[in-house]
Amino acid sequence: MVKQTSFISVFFLLLCLCGGIYATMAQQANTQNKFDKLVIDAGHGGDKPGAVGLLSKEKDITLAVSLKLGKMITEHLKDVEVYYTRVIDKDVELYKRSQIANKISADLFISIHCNSSANKNPKGSETFALGLTKAAQNLEVAKKENKDILSEANYEENYDGFDPNAPENDILFSLYQNAYMEGSLWFADKVQKQLTVNTPVSNRGVKQANFVVLLKSAMPSVLVEIGFISNKEEEKYLMSEIGQYEIAASIFRAICEYKMHKDNVKIAIPSVASLIPKDVLDKQQQIEEAEKLAKAKEEERIKKENLERAAQQQRDSVMNAQTSGSELIYRVQFASMKTKVSTSDARFSGLEDVWLYEFDGYWKYCAGLFATQKEASNYVQKVRGLGHKDAFVVVFHNGKRISFEQAREFESKKN
Ligand SMILES: [Zn+2]
Repeated sequence: MVKQTSFISVFFLLLCLCGGIYATMAQQANTQNKFDKLVIDAGHGGDKPGAVGLLSKEKDITLAVSLKLGKMITEHLKDVEVYYTRVIDKDVELYKRSQIANKISADLFISIHCNSSANKNPKGSETFALGLTKAAQNLEVAKKENKDILSEANYEENYDGFDPNAPENDILFSLYQNAYMEGSLWFADKVQKQLTVNTPVSNRGVKQANFVVLLKSAMPSVLVEIGFISNKEEEKYLMSEIGQYEIAASIFRAICEYKMHKDNVKIAIPSVASLIPKDVLDKQQQIEEAEKLAKAKEEERIKKENLERAAQQQRDSVMNAQTSGSELIYRVQFASMKTKVSTSDARFSGLEDVWLYEFDGYWKYCAGLFATQKEASNYVQKVRGLGHKDAFVVVFHNGKRISFEQAREFESKKN
């Protein structure tokens, strides 16, 4: 009996032990497969500013966006741990950045950068996965981002003799990341789509090139060029709080999509607006309203200027005709007085081109200056509306009042 009891006990003990080991193994496998750790790498830092714009440095923008992105993950994607390669303005050697990611067995590595070009026109965002390229444009981007290693000590040793000036020549380079290529490209595609939908930055697409910062990372890894610091308008956006939040929110939403894809889970992905602090949104709204108002004012000013110009042109053409004496001038006569009154008299306010002539001992007051009887007739209504009820059209030739019959004769001769 005693023997039997101890046998059962040992059996149960073994069962529990095995069960325990199995459960631990299963849990380990589960956590290994789950997407729960990521590294955000803010490009450049310290004495390596990266690209320099008119008003800003790449290292500052990449850090600001990285910190905003990390905060969003911590707040809204609680089962994903965030690691940074830097959280302050300091230099971290490029090989150490992927080392940090490997050390913690991160599931995703995101390096954030700004593009630049000697030509100020290029703009837009692009996301890179590691890979060989012969495309000149991609090589240029890689060379720029890789050049930081030239000032690192022992860079040849740390980067296996890689030539940062000829990233197209190193086949070894693309082999490191081959196992993670699919995941990297899948995520890169989501980043570009989110950036395109949620920011004004245009889409330059998903690309591949050899970047040393991604070289030895043992996980899906991308390098996002969030925009051109060399483009005046885009630099302004990259520097703005709203721009940085919109970019961070776009990358955050791509991370949510990646987690759903990897872990086969459903996530209610927060909207971009819900990820941006209210005061930043309010300020942006104020800026947009002020811009709208300024634009409307400017349009009104241009419209008024054009109208004034057209009116002046008309006056000029009539005046020219008058001085050359070969054309007919139509005016609207609205008063007749014994006394001569200044044309700027208050009684004439609202009337244009007030002019007077003497006839039969009376001063006749006219307004308007037109090349056709029709235009003058239209103006009569306005003059009557200003209280001069008896206004009517008169016609002059060479400064002399003539009849409409004479005017018609002149017209027919001219034609
Ligand atoms: Zn960069």
